[in-house]
Amino acid sequence: MTVDLVLGIFIISPLLVTLPIYFNLILLPPIFMVVSFKNKRKNGDILGMILLLILSLIFLLVGLQDLSREETMSIIQGILLLLLSASTIRRIRTIRNTVYKNWYNDIKENTGLFEKQLVEDEVLATCPSCSTLLAVIPSKLSEDDKCPNCGENLVN
Ligand SMILES: [Zn+2]
Repeated sequence: MTVDLVLGIFIISPLLVTLPIYFNLILLPPIFMVVSFKNKRKNGDILGMILLLILSLIFLLVGLQDLSREETMSIIQGILLLLLSASTIRRIRTIRNTVYKNWYNDIKENTGLFEKQLVEDEVLATCPSCSTLLAVIPSKLSEDDKCPNCGENLVN
């Protein structure tokens, strides 16, 4: 997120230098957004999404502007910016993902319940072949044990 912001600032910097100095204050809210997001403050994920949306719009608009010029370098930069805009939008979808949201908001209720169901000495492990989450007892794990999901050996 920080990298995106720096890139965004860099891209609009030619514009910023032409504006009065106080106009640079518009950089403060985005920095606040990044800090909230990084520190996982309440609603930080929403601020992060807004920031990514604004950045992807900037990348899109500057990219389109570059494309309209007739120099090869500008067109290449324009295409790169459009790609960047698309990947920024995709990251918004990642933030909206439930798994990500739960991680972000530290919602451990689900995994907490799961951990309570574990018999003593059982640990959570993932299958090396299909990555399914399994409860295994390491001391009783043998080379013949198969994954219940994909049937591959659990011990390589
Ligand atoms: Zn498996």
